[in-house]
Amino acid sequence: MIGADVLIVGAGPVGMTLALDLAWRGIDVAIVETRAAREQPSVKCNHISARTMETFRRLGFADVMRDKQGLPHDYRNDVAFRTTVTGGWELTRIPIPCRRDRYTSTEGVDSWWPTPEPPHRINQLDMEPVMFDRLLGQPRITVFNRTRLESFDQDEAGVTGHAVDLDSGEQVTIRATYLVGCDGGHSMVRKAIGAKFEGDAKLFDVQSSFIRAPELLGLMCDRPAWMTHTANSRRNGVAVAIDGRELWLVHNSLRPNESFDAIDRDEAIRAILGVGEDFTYELLAKEDWTARRLIADKFRDRRAFIVGDAAQLWVPTAGYGMNAGIASATDLAWMLAGVIHGWAGPAILDAYFAERHPINEQVSRYAMGVAVQSRADRAAIPKEIEDDTAEGAAIRARTGTEFYDLNVKQFACGGLNFGYFYDRSPIIAYDGEAAPAYTMQDFTPSTVPGCRLPYFALPDGTPIYDALGPDFTLLRFDSRVDVTPLLDAAAARGVPMALVDVMPDTAPGAYRQALVLSRPDRHVGWRGDALPADPLALIDLLRGAD
Ligand SMILES: Cc1cc2nc3c(=O)[nH]c(=O)nc-3n(C[C@H](O)[C@H](O)[C@H](O)COP(=O)(O)OP(=O)(O)OC[C@H]3O[C@@H](n4cnc5c(N)ncnc54)[C@H](O)[C@@H]3O)c2cc1C
Repeated sequence: MIGADVLIVGAGPVGMTLALDLAWRGIDVAIVETRAAREQPSVKCNHISARTMETFRRLGFADVMRDKQGLPHDYRNDVAFRTTVTGGWELTRIPIPCRRDRYTSTEGVDSWWPTPEPPHRINQLDMEPVMFDRLLGQPRITVFNRTRLESFDQDEAGVTGHAVDLDSGEQVTIRATYLVGCDGGHSMVRKAIGAKFEGDAKLFDVQSSFIRAPELLGLMCDRPAWMTHTANSRRNGVAVAIDGRELWLVHNSLRPNESFDAIDRDEAIRAILGVGEDFTYELLAKEDWTARRLIADKFRDRRAFIVGDAAQLWVPTAGYGMNAGIASATDLAWMLAGVIHGWAGPAILDAYFAERHPINEQVSRYAMGVAVQSRADRAAIPKEIEDDTAEGAAIRARTGTEFYDLNVKQFACGGLNFGYFYDRSPIIAYDGEAAPAYTMQDFTPSTVPGCRLPYFALPDGTPIYDALGPDFTLLRFDSRVDVTPLLDAAAARGVPMALVDVMPDTAPGAYRQALVLSRPDRHVGWRGDALPADPLALIDLLRGAD
């Protein structure tokens, strides 16, 4: 029998992040995946959020991810709105810097964000191999490809996973202390723990085609975009540049009365691209999908958890499904590590649902709202939008403004990245001040417990996140405050806690207290001008002691 601390089911982006984060925290992981090693994933996901890139930086591979082949380094990441991809008129454009200029550009709508790692546009085809290489290079992780988990049992001490080697047909038994299902939308683990999806099972269908079209780039305007949305009265969709040369993903947004099979795929692709019968392309894969908004009603049964698409599925507007799954994985990772290392109480694991379920609800509703509004706007587009007349020009100007205002939120979703906070967690020491409200686009950095630790750079330019310890870090902005009792209390409970002294004028205005305690996931766990009267009680709250 194979043994591990944690058995992860599914090596998609969420399962791989969880495995890498656990291993980074000293936990032994077994991960089973039905796909063969390096078997190509689906070509759907294209946006890695800033928060995810911060996680990849912590785990040591953000630079590799950013340098990885994908879009050429000078290919603009703009989002364009046009009447067709190759012809007609451009209605508006959301500027997003190319990979080369990502750290330095001030032009992009998201260039102002306080982060050491701005977002990155790369397709899942290029992203997953970077992560898989890290899995193989991490001695604490054992990867079982072509292996499918069929069932599992739980007892007082652990979980026994029953898997099958898909090549030999042999049974593989893996014993672990915990099991996490990162096994996607059809999750076997979700069903096994008795969790149910709640929400909207179907919003609309999208006929998606992965194509090779070497001629397309040459037919586009002089500023090809990463993503081009089309708006006309005939057929609307989106073309996403996958490699910036010849690979494209074309989404055809179906009308309510249309079904996948009834719509001529080739005709729709040509209408969206604005090309005639003489245009040649190769259909590489059909990637049709249904937009939903579903969240599981529970994420855990005793020692078994679900994370990522296994626990939530929603429309990809704002490109946040995987990113939210990765945020959940990083939340669960440190809690599991704390319990396995022995410094956290098992009750800490209840915080995973308490913290992440409300966020998934909020993100899914933001994404659905923009998606539904966007479809309604496009359904109402008059045919005159394509006319070379004053009326046509007026419609294009008005539509362009409406599209920009609605969509800039999803392509510069600062609130989704940095604004969310955990306001009902059993392991955060709240102090009565409410966290600042956020929108999809905007947020206010804050040290209210539950918020993301506000970002700043130290005087030598080091990002504060790089200076934090791997676990808890106490930031002290007034060296006269004696923090020994708190550090002693942490040590008494075996809770790893680092102390970082910061000159008070280094930090942004959000830092108003002398002490701010960062949790292992860089959310604020506690703050104050002086230590609490009972430091041990604070430590026990933070570590989820029973
Ligand atoms: C068109 C489209 C565009 C999108 N764009 C974005 C985007 O830009 N940004 C973003 O954040 N999100 C995006 N998403 C969502 C994103 O693709 C998913 O949220 C993400 O892939 C979920 O990752 P995951 O690891 O949870 O699941 P998956 O990627 O589905 O991985 C699950 C893995 O588990 C394996 N597995 C399943 N069952 C078993 C089993 N029993 N045993 C062993 N292995 C098993 C599967 O083979 C698979 O590899 C998009 C989605 C769509 C449809």
